[in-house]
Amino acid sequence: MTVQPTFPASPSAEPAAEATARVTPMMEQYLEIKAANPGLLLFYRMGDFYELFFEDAEIASRALGIMLTKRGRHQGADIPMCGVPVERADDYLHRLIAQGFRVAVCEQMEDPAAARARGAKSVVRRDVVRLVTPGTLTEDTLLDARANNYLLAIARLRGSAGGDRLGLAWIDISTCEFFVTECSGGELAATLSRINPNEIIVTDALYSDGDIGPILREWPAVTPLTRDVFDSATAERRLCDYFAVATMDGLASMSRLEASAAAAAVTYIDRTQVGKRPPLSPPAREAAGSIMAIDPATRANLELTRTLSGDRRGSLLDAIDSTVTSAGSRLLAQRLAAPLTDSAAIARRLDAVAAFVADSGIREDVRATLRSAPDLSRALARLSVGRGGPRDLAGLRDAIFAADRALSQLARMDEAPQEIAATIAALGRPSRELAREYERALAEQLPLLKRDGGFVREGYEAALDEARNLRDASRLVVASMQARYAEDTGVKGLKIRHNNVLGYFVEVTAQHGDKLMSPPLNAIFIHRQTLAGQVRFTTAELGEIEAKIANAGDRALALELEIFERLCAMAVAASEDLRAAAHAFAVLDVTTALAKRASDDNYVRPEVDGSLSFAVEGGRHPVVEQALKREGQPFIANACDLSPVPPQQSSGQIWLVTGPNMAGKSTFLRQNALIALLAQAGSFVPASRARIGIVDRLFSRVGAADDLARGRSTFMVEMVETAVILNQASERSLVILDEIGRGTATFDGLSIAWAAIEHLHEVNCCRALFATHYHELTALSAKLPRLFNATVRVKEWQGNVVFLHEVLPGSADRSYGIQVAKLAGLPASVIARAKSVLAKLEAQDRGQTARALADDLPLFAVPSRASADPAPPSEAEQLVEALEALHPDEMSPREALEALYALKAKLPKD
Ligand code: ADP
Ligand code: MG
Repeated sequence: MTVQPTFPASPSAEPAAEATARVTPMMEQYLEIKAANPGLLLFYRMGDFYELFFEDAEIASRALGIMLTKRGRHQGADIPMCGVPVERADDYLHRLIAQGFRVAVCEQMEDPAAARARGAKSVVRRDVVRLVTPGTLTEDTLLDARANNYLLAIARLRGSAGGDRLGLAWIDISTCEFFVTECSGGELAATLSRINPNEIIVTDALYSDGDIGPILREWPAVTPLTRDVFDSATAERRLCDYFAVATMDGLASMSRLEASAAAAAVTYIDRTQVGKRPPLSPPAREAAGSIMAIDPATRANLELTRTLSGDRRGSLLDAIDSTVTSAGSRLLAQRLAAPLTDSAAIARRLDAVAAFVADSGIREDVRATLRSAPDLSRALARLSVGRGGPRDLAGLRDAIFAADRALSQLARMDEAPQEIAATIAALGRPSRELAREYERALAEQLPLLKRDGGFVREGYEAALDEARNLRDASRLVVASMQARYAEDTGVKGLKIRHNNVLGYFVEVTAQHGDKLMSPPLNAIFIHRQTLAGQVRFTTAELGEIEAKIANAGDRALALELEIFERLCAMAVAASEDLRAAAHAFAVLDVTTALAKRASDDNYVRPEVDGSLSFAVEGGRHPVVEQALKREGQPFIANACDLSPVPPQQSSGQIWLVTGPNMAGKSTFLRQNALIALLAQAGSFVPASRARIGIVDRLFSRVGAADDLARGRSTFMVEMVETAVILNQASERSLVILDEIGRGTATFDGLSIAWAAIEHLHEVNCCRALFATHYHELTALSAKLPRLFNATVRVKEWQGNVVFLHEVLPGSADRSYGIQVAKLAGLPASVIARAKSVLAKLEAQDRGQTARALADDLPLFAVPSRASADPAPPSEAEQLVEALEALHPDEMSPREALEALYALKAKLPKD
């Protein structure tokens, strides 16, 4: 499992004073830095390696599968050590972060020569330049391009009677996005599952809280911090300091609680980035209730961004994602995870999609432009924390030029809807002069790292050209020296070569070695090295020229790095405009992608309004449809109407869907939930027509889903989840219940399903779809006016079932379970036996009892949320009830006899 270090906790007791007294100066430095960064693995820079010592080394060697060695002794024992090469540090960091570790990266802050100059005993100055934690990553190699990487802070305000309020702030430092909101303790799990943070920071107190703690522990990386980080008294000041403003009023409106979470998040960023500040957007506030509430179980169930098995493939996101940039993919994931509840805001998104559905020419041109636009926000974020390279600068340049192309393409649109007009404005913002400057400054071919130079274009800066010329001219001199030496010595094969150990040297084959080592040539050629086949020399002249080359090279590099810093500073200064353009690109990508999906797969624009309607014609399941298409199979479209039935306008209908296994019940249920979700996310929907009254909360449950990971019995999970729905669904909610009650004995299950439907109908008054095998439940429609029976049609043909996947009014008379079992290949003897058992059971006709129950359903007795549970009826009352329920005139002799038996059974046993 992952390590959950308390960080930063009180300094660990590790380096006791008397122990440090005998250690080497370097070890002393190491222990000091280590103690200042408890809970983190320390990457201690030594030359070309980051070294880890002591326990860190043991942990890292296990986690990374690298060799554990020893270096020196400490307190009488060997010091375990392991190291990773600096060149490949990202790869190792990635693996450590993925396993839940946090790493402090400690660099050498001066040239080792400078340290030696201070005295033999002095140690190279070192400092921690960055803490690498799961929520504060910026490198492409450490990030998933298509997903945001959020750090989330939670602040709490204690309320009376358990009514805690929580302030949430979440930041993606790799894109500079910053959001805040408030929620109640009860909403926390749902909100977290929507945001899907990579790291959560909370106070120690919250981490060990009885209610909140367990929710937090569901998440892999939770970092408890001391209370001062969340202090609301200093929050405003810390935020102002970060944004370098006198007051936050002009930037953002936040509650005190939100500000305290926001301040905690920026403080943590300051701490982990060691002073480097990504140019964050001012916090954007999400108003309460502005987003469709979807709890974690529903989210998992509907497979919105991941399937139940955890893959992106097969999820709704994967099925509809035809974005062409990673920023677009990230925004689409955000939008799907957080459908809106404001019909005007939804209409703005739909208008924009509609414009690109209408004009495929502009759409495809814009998409082509987007394809060539780099990930602007991540490049900018990296440059601003000093981790960018020349290619990030080029990325900014190309993005600005792409903005110009997109603008001229969008100009062809007759009338741009509001959302597109906003992207046009944003794309116009970044300074074109910035791009032209980068164009002038950057070479054609760019190295990944700035470290070795070679990225500034020739002719950009005279001083650089001069240094480079000097360096190159000297290299030419070396080349001419080789010819001259060959001539002077008469050794034709003489070469001047270069390596990192010797620098420049003269090399001849072994047979000529003696000649250069004897007079007169040995006055010029100084022996350096004898290898198996070659002998190597240097000369005074070569040494001089080498120094010249090195000096000129150093100067050129220094100049290039200076230019890099200048170009970088220009980007940071323009970050507000660049961020706006980056967002506009993402919006354009999402909008054109949704338009393309809509026209490729025949989606329509949904009508979304404030009614309680839910009317879908020709609805399809976006994921199943695609899967069937790949196999050349058609998807059978189905209508669904849960709208209130006039004259009653205050509550929608419940559809009770029966039909055999494999008929398509679950598919039908889910497709309707997904259509509502897509519509409110601002997408067209897979249907021929759809009108959807805003859904405030979406619930979806599947009977007896496995939840072994959390160690709860499946039936218990099912019931806990059903309880949430019955307690929380309002008339604005949409509820999907798929075979609830399946996880227990038949009569238990049937009774629970029965009572749940009554409750949904009478108390929740929500729009709902309920799939079931209990055909007895269809009898309920006689008494519940807004309960509608629907069934998925099958045909029986030569003793087999044929699935037609058509949803029609009515109820299935049987489950065809045995036919499905036969299709699945159960042995013939088992099938035959099952048939005979079924025949006997059916003879008892459970349906009859159900109809009787439904006939006499005392609706007024359905418990309402407000009333306390009524006391259970006494045995005498039960008998009277049962007697009253009998209608002798309508009974067959056999039914009458059965009723008598049933009455007798109700008598007290003794
Ligand atoms: P149930 O819940 O009734 O057991 P499912 O919804 O799981 O059935 O559907 C079983 C399979 O039938 C699906 O995997 C899908 O391949 C197919 N199917 C379901 N609905 C349709 C449809 N409307 N059109 C075509 N195939 C469908
Ligand atoms: Mg099913």
